[in-house]
Amino acid sequence: MHTDSANVSRPTFYTVREAARILRVGPSTLYRAIREDAFPAVRLRTRYVIPAVALEKLLAEATERGTLVDPARMAADVRLRRLRRVPDDVLAEIVAAEGLAGRQLNEVELGSGCPVTDRELAAQLCAGCPVQDECLELDLRWMADQTLGVFAGLTEADRRTAYPLWLTERRADACPSRRAQAGANAGDAR
Ligand code: SF4
Repeated sequence: MHTDSANVSRPTFYTVREAARILRVGPSTLYRAIREDAFPAVRLRTRYVIPAVALEKLLAEATERGTLVDPARMAADVRLRRLRRVPDDVLAEIVAAEGLAGRQLNEVELGSGCPVTDRELAAQLCAGCPVQDECLELDLRWMADQTLGVFAGLTEADRRTAYPLWLTERRADACPSRRAQAGANAGDAR
């Protein structure tokens, strides 16, 4: 890949495949996050590349927080952020009209392998539903950390884990100075 003239051993950019390998995710997951503007990338003619400094910064921030860089979650966060100003009743109408709610387990066409975990079962129950983001947004707003069952292809445990992060984002959105302060704190910590 491209290199600095000053430092030939350190790449300036990673290919998407190289970055995906570093993050231990599939290239398609990373491509999706890039296309949704959730992951830093630069377009060079017909292909994307990942600036090494951007990837290193994400890894350093994740290490500091004790988390992982998860492109799928980053993309989901961006999609949910786009729904933040949609009123509850509009979201509820969309989910009721277009969601696959009400499907029973025995109606679900399970994949070739039987789901072996709750997470896999939840993903299969909602597979193909076109309103998973709207469903998740509504569930987080209405049920918060008391949510039960399967919604948006996620188990209740995963949605309860996601809730505090979602809430922090929303509070920062509602109070720009809080977002600025959070950014400043992150900058100080680096
Ligand atoms: S995401 Fe799942 S729970 Fe939500 S409407 Fe679609 S099928 Fe129903």
